[in-house]
Amino acid sequence: MKVAILGTGYVGLSTGVSLAEIGHQVCCIDVDEAKINQLQQGISPIYEPGMEEFLTRNIAAGRLRFTTSHRQGVAGAEIVILAVGTPQREDGSADLTYLVEAAKDLAAYLEQETIVVIKSTVPVGTNDEVRKILEANCHEDVSVKMVANPEFLRQGSALKDTLEADRIIIGSDHQQAASKVKEMYSPLKVPCMLTSVRSAEMIKYASNAFLATKISFINAVANLCEAVGADVTDVAKGMGMDKRIGNHFLNAGIGYGGSCFPKDVKALWHTTRNEEVDFGVLAETMRINDEQQVRLVKKTLKRFAGDVSGKKIAMLGLSFKPETDDMREAPSIKIAQELTKLGAHVAAYDPVATKNAKRVIGESISYADTLLEAVTDADAVLVVTEWQEMKQMDIASLGEVMKQVIIFDGRNCLDEEQLRNCKNIEYHPIGRPAII
Ligand code: NAD
Repeated sequence: MKVAILGTGYVGLSTGVSLAEIGHQVCCIDVDEAKINQLQQGISPIYEPGMEEFLTRNIAAGRLRFTTSHRQGVAGAEIVILAVGTPQREDGSADLTYLVEAAKDLAAYLEQETIVVIKSTVPVGTNDEVRKILEANCHEDVSVKMVANPEFLRQGSALKDTLEADRIIIGSDHQQAASKVKEMYSPLKVPCMLTSVRSAEMIKYASNAFLATKISFINAVANLCEAVGADVTDVAKGMGMDKRIGNHFLNAGIGYGGSCFPKDVKALWHTTRNEEVDFGVLAETMRINDEQQVRLVKKTLKRFAGDVSGKKIAMLGLSFKPETDDMREAPSIKIAQELTKLGAHVAAYDPVATKNAKRVIGESISYADTLLEAVTDADAVLVVTEWQEMKQMDIASLGEVMKQVIIFDGRNCLDEEQLRNCKNIEYHPIGRPAII
């Protein structure tokens, strides 16, 4: 099949290379010239495991092209996928500016019967609005059929998640268009669920809001565990053995971040307000998360009797999760800002996200080239992102370089056995008894 994709971010690019991998002719379009130049040479603008191998293989096989020209990209395409960003507005609602622009860019080049798929996360009703924009701007002979096809990939495992998804949601009011999109995905052998456009739009928001709520719930449980002397790791394991609860997404920590959960929960909350539907649990999910993101700061402050000024704090991890260089809404941002405000000197280390972090956090903190450089002469270590490198660090040797070994583990990811065998360390996890 000939497929065009607008937007070569995490979603558009992962979709593009995956569809090429299963044999389709794919053209990816982006307005960002620098990105397209890199992609044409097989260089991935984002850090995503496996991406460059997929790019090189499919470009070489002639199945994958990149262009900044909507005209060239869309020509002959049976299916056009919109995967541009839908960030949040200041009031928390979804900002559809890029999507509206993309629809206008696209409309003039649509051919007789085109299926337009919206993969971006969009509020209920957006597919209808985009269809109106397309119809108002395309040639009168063109018939546009909309398909809502939300994406569920996770950054850091985007290709695996696309190729081995749990489900593919196909929402359309045109049976023929839905069947065609189902056929496009059929080599993946992933279960497809066909539904209405509005239900598909809702499935995405409800899924993300549920996952975010699960995270906030276990974080609230963790805080309670700390207060009453229980261990949240055991509590979560015991809960998760119940099949009705399930053992995923029950890792206590310093809250969710990234480009999706924070904005999607806010956008859904905004919809509930507009529709005057009571959905208070969303407000609590957001409130708990805001507080959880600074929990390590509060713990550090308490440990140093309310004064961290002049202390060197090593912050291990900057990206919002491991295996990505994405800094959008990363808890590290708030932690760095709060510690700096309190007069601490933050030395941050991340294996891949430093360049992006400098743009977001700026020069108010220092950036180390190695983990060792960050922890040298530090008064305390904060584990913020659970990269393998952090999990595998040699805790016993920290005593040789740090002023005193005090560790705050925001991801409960350090090796317990190693910790127990170390002398002269203090270890403060989330929701578990400290090791002192
Ligand atoms: P992104 O910001 O990484 O990429 C969007 C791309 O669209 C950019 O490269 C931008 O230059 C391009 N673009 C903007 N206007 C354009 C136009 N008119 N024509 C062509 N290209 C244009 O975004 P992303 O993270 O890939 O997310 C895209 C959508 O998918 C969002 O709605 C997001 O909520 C959703 N989503 C994201 C993830 C994720 O993990 N990142 C997962 C599921 C769903």
